[in-house]
Amino acid sequence: MRIHALSTGTVTITTKFHEGRGSRVKRLVQAFTDSQYTEPLPIWCWVIEHPEGVIVIDAGIPANANDPIWFPPHLRLMQRSAIFDIADASQEIGGQLRSLGITPDSVRWVIQTHMHQDHDGGLQCFPNAKILVAREEWAAGQGVIGKMTGYMNHRWHGITPTLLDHTQRDPIFDGAHTVTKAGDVRIVPTRGHSAGHQSVIIEDGAHTLFFAGDTSYSQALLIRRALDGVAVSAKAHARSQGQILALARQTPVVYLPSHEWEAKTRLENRVTLDA
Ligand SMILES: [Zn+2]
Repeated sequence: MRIHALSTGTVTITTKFHEGRGSRVKRLVQAFTDSQYTEPLPIWCWVIEHPEGVIVIDAGIPANANDPIWFPPHLRLMQRSAIFDIADASQEIGGQLRSLGITPDSVRWVIQTHMHQDHDGGLQCFPNAKILVAREEWAAGQGVIGKMTGYMNHRWHGITPTLLDHTQRDPIFDGAHTVTKAGDVRIVPTRGHSAGHQSVIIEDGAHTLFFAGDTSYSQALLIRRALDGVAVSAKAHARSQGQILALARQTPVVYLPSHEWEAKTRLENRVTLDA
């Protein structure tokens, strides 16, 4: 199984977006108004050449990611707290796949850890893929309320995802959904960063690869069980992080968050999480 880490540009976020404390409102205000920023962080999209078909985990940002958002007006504040850098359309997920020799038309599954604007940007380029989104996430992003809470739902026009309820039992997580016939790729709910956040677990020989989306912005933050500035539920976020750490105590987990450069080398060298 070949796995590629493709970063669709970078994102620079405020330090209080990266790590937050206190109530949701307090965290959001601090994240949006903070004047200190992180270094540019990757926006990983993971491409898995699985024997049953190509799997893409998250679709990155589009080339126009920094275009001003005028409605609702407070999203201008969100835009100043998360600044994207992407050269042109060749850096979008579709363009990068083509340079690997994979046509986006041939992708079988696109798994969305969640539907925030740095994860949904390339969805339109997968006409034949089954797009797998948690039902709560899709619901949370709809309509004006979805817009108010930062989902770019105008981009979802014409997208008909397969909505997941994670109805299988899992010994650690609150359910699971198995993707492949071989049973080696499954999706588990990891709510908290967003209403219906989910993570992807791939059994790869001796290792369990954990594609974590935004359950934390780095492995160190997971180990410290730190909260981010924009998580919708501190309680659910903590529960998800606890479950990931519990998994890592049982089995050799390679932890792969969306916004940490080291995730790529961790994957290449199968560096496991010491929980
Ligand atoms: Zn993200």
